[in-house]
Amino acid sequence: MTDNILEVRDLVKNYKTKKGTTQAVKGISFHVERGEIFGFLGANGAGKSTTINMVTTQLLPDGGQIIYDGEDLTADTAAIRRKIGVVAQHNNLERSLTAEENLYFHGRYFGMKTSEIKERSQELLTKFGLWDRRKDFVRNYSGGMAQRLKIARAMLHKPEILFLDEPTTGLDPNYRNILWDQMLKMNREGTTIFLTTHYMEEVESFCRHVAIMKKGEMLACGTVQELEEKTGTQSLNDVFLVLTNHDGVDDRQSANKEE
Ligand code: ATP
Repeated sequence: MTDNILEVRDLVKNYKTKKGTTQAVKGISFHVERGEIFGFLGANGAGKSTTINMVTTQLLPDGGQIIYDGEDLTADTAAIRRKIGVVAQHNNLERSLTAEENLYFHGRYFGMKTSEIKERSQELLTKFGLWDRRKDFVRNYSGGMAQRLKIARAMLHKPEILFLDEPTTGLDPNYRNILWDQMLKMNREGTTIFLTTHYMEEVESFCRHVAIMKKGEMLACGTVQELEEKTGTQSLNDVFLVLTNHDGVDDRQSANKEE
């Protein structure tokens, strides 16, 4: 029997705007096995960030169920928050604090001891090339530096499951490699990784299962090989193009709206 760390059933999210309602997530279901690297793909505006925000407790769903280790998320949200690490797409660092302080307060929130925070902060800040800039205010960081700090912060407390929403965006190739080294190291130590990315080669190389969304719906879920067989293609890039029938139009522009 497979051991699922996360199960999502019939998840729904609608955004109400002045122009009407956007059905961002239309009843999707999928599961993530403990210890795997799971790739979550879709065109721009498909609903990936909205889904991540719901499963990481940052956004309330309008319907469906989110289950961690067999327990409904709503049963003990605080306990589930302690299991997870999140690299959001937007910059949600405290800009008026230094890098070191950002990590310290994060570690304290997750119940880490000061000595443990210091040790792990040094390890991660060094890995991500920020140790010499640890006392700088985050408002003075470049985009790539802030991205690296967000990643270090999410990894700090060694979460059971790490969600990364397009983590390699804005990183130069060197730091992209370092990020993958760190993710693979944590994965070997038992952390489940849930990743959205537009880099198909990353998914092809590292993900056990892949889910592909379009316009709020789940198009397919399986191993890369299963998806290639299903679509009669020989690369994940072609799987993506066939399944999404991509015409170059941003899904945001053509999102299904109820006026
Ligand atoms: P990308 O690859 O560009 O990051 P995505 O797959 O993460 O896209 P979402 O950001 O989840 O997609 O957006 C899904 C849909 O919901 C889009 O049509 C988007 O315009 C809409 N949407 C997202 N956030 C909001 C919001 N706060 N208010 C209104 N509509 C929103």
